Amino acid sequence: NTFAEIDLGEALNQNIRRCKYVKPTPVQRHAIPISLGGRDLMACAQTGSGKTAAFCFPIISGIMKGQNMQRPARGARTAYPLALILSPTRELSMQIHEEARKFSYQTGVRVVVAYGGSPINLQLRDLERGADILVATPGRLVDLLERAKVSLQMIRYLALDEADRMLDMGFEPQIRKIVEQMDMPPPGVRQTMLFSATFPREIQRLASDFLSSYIFLAV
Ligand code: AMP
Repeated sequence: NTFAEIDLGEALNQNIRRCKYVKPTPVQRHAIPISLGGRDLMACAQTGSGKTAAFCFPIISGIMKGQNMQRPARGARTAYPLALILSPTRELSMQIHEEARKFSYQTGVRVVVAYGGSPINLQLRDLERGADILVATPGRLVDLLERAKVSLQMIRYLALDEADRMLDMGFEPQIRKIVEQMDMPPPGVRQTMLFSATFPREIQRLASDFLSSYIFLAV
């Protein structure tokens, strides 16, 4: 019942200690082993439940351990992230980015954020320096895809945070466009985690379209 008992890799465990996280929250206790085990996940979780760490830890751990994973070239004109975290707003994206950066300190995993309502140039410069994990809002990501600044062909982890809010904000077409651009890897190669506070019919439809034989978690 402590993070030390979960095999997340030494560097990540050290960062978790640095953040003073000792005991996993309920969503973390259940979601992290499911994701480490390679299964897709649909989790009903509220803000404040610790969901950010629940999807960040398996992603960072997986990238750290994925020695055989082809690493994206740095300094290329197109970024090839291995993980994508989609979030509804600029504020939430900034928060996720900040936390993910703390968790990935000295792991060699690079985290970049891209959101709308802010000049794109600085984001482009960050992307050109290399992005293993991209945190993005759907609209800005579609823009980056259209400019060929980001390719989703290497995505191995996809996390959708606050999916119900993204749908309420009308992002479903953008989300579908984004997911369509990912390679169709054999089952088990790409892992998807869907987080939502509520589970209405539209979210169930997203889950059945994007997830394969997933585990449903309500905490
Ligand atoms: P979240 O729901 O991801 O926005 O997290 C809510 C807050 O709880 C954030 O400030 C986190 O840093 C903190 N937090 C998340 N998990 C833990 C944990 N296992 N132990 C202590 N604090 C945590």
